[in-house]
Amino acid sequence: MNPFAPRIEISLSQIRENTQILSDLYLEKGISLMGVTKAVLGEPSIAKAMIEGGVQLIADSRIENILKMKNAGISIPFVLLRTPLSQAESIVENVDISLNTEIETIKRLSHHAKTQNKTHQVIIMVELGDLREGVMLCDLSQFIRETLSLPNIKIIGIGCNLACYGGIKPDDKNMRELSEQVDLLENEFQIDLEIISGGNSANYEWFKSSQNVGRVNNLRLGESILLGCETVGRKAIPGLHRSAFQLVAEVIESKKKPSLPSGEICQDAFGNVSSFLDRGIRKRAIIALGRQDVPVSSLKSIDPLRMIGSSSDHIILDGESHNLEVGDEVRFSLDYGGLLAVMTSPFVMKQFTDCNSQKAI
Ligand SMILES: *Cc1c(COP(=O)(O)O)cnc(C)c1O
Repeated sequence: MNPFAPRIEISLSQIRENTQILSDLYLEKGISLMGVTKAVLGEPSIAKAMIEGGVQLIADSRIENILKMKNAGISIPFVLLRTPLSQAESIVENVDISLNTEIETIKRLSHHAKTQNKTHQVIIMVELGDLREGVMLCDLSQFIRETLSLPNIKIIGIGCNLACYGGIKPDDKNMRELSEQVDLLENEFQIDLEIISGGNSANYEWFKSSQNVGRVNNLRLGESILLGCETVGRKAIPGLHRSAFQLVAEVIESKKKPSLPSGEICQDAFGNVSSFLDRGIRKRAIIALGRQDVPVSSLKSIDPLRMIGSSSDHIILDGESHNLEVGDEVRFSLDYGGLLAVMTSPFVMKQFTDCNSQKAI
């Protein structure tokens, strides 16, 4: 009998090798890496594979994921990627470094750090055109001045995030801007900024083409490590594994049916009114996987299969180009959105293929 489906098969050795190759590559120009675990719900064994592959820090956007990794015994420093607010107390207690853009939040962190008799480290994020999080350049100096005046807070670095909201490409111009800001701030305030975090998986092309990476000495990588691609054009990075994650679903019905529904056509389960092409009687298969598990557009079939429809719990495949029978399994690779959804779904079993351990999260 087949193992439980749907399941996501995860190769930890491929994730470790991807991390190793990227760590070596970026280190050639003096750039260290944070391994980003948010797309895999802070799965501790994936964080461990990243650490074995050479990352010095683990970064996640959710405190819950960080707690999960800490509880699993991971003792490397953690970075919170999303600026905190109401969770400030727990952040100070559990996280070493957080990314920040609001002085009110840093005041809260400072307050809790004082109460807990700790120093909390912050990376100040700078807005360089993508228009997600970041302090505007014209406000940066004042922002740093105020932050420096707060007790129990240490500015460990500055950073920026591109290619997320605005889809702005990291290039020599915005990266040089970041380096210039580092020099200006270090001079003005007589401080040393240790971490200059220039971005994420979208920084690959800039890195490859740049003769001089300036002061940038860190990147925060999730997708490149997990899926083996950069994220400006989703191109494969040479030498990396691209299918460390495979989603497997099972066929629960296989029958010949007309291609035109019969009866009066109304809205479907999601409020759309569909139109159909009469292609005669066709073989078709239903797999036990649906929109509650994954956005269907995120699925890339490893076999040439055509999806003809989907609802919350079912995906219908055209059956002419293959011979799927009940109980057969169908494999998909995933894009980033698909990985995020599948890893978050309580319905998909997580299976680690190269250490024989199975685990339902
Ligand atoms: C998610 C995230 C990353 C990682 O992005 P990838 O494209 O997966 O490499 C880096 N930095 C921040 C602030 C993030 O939120």
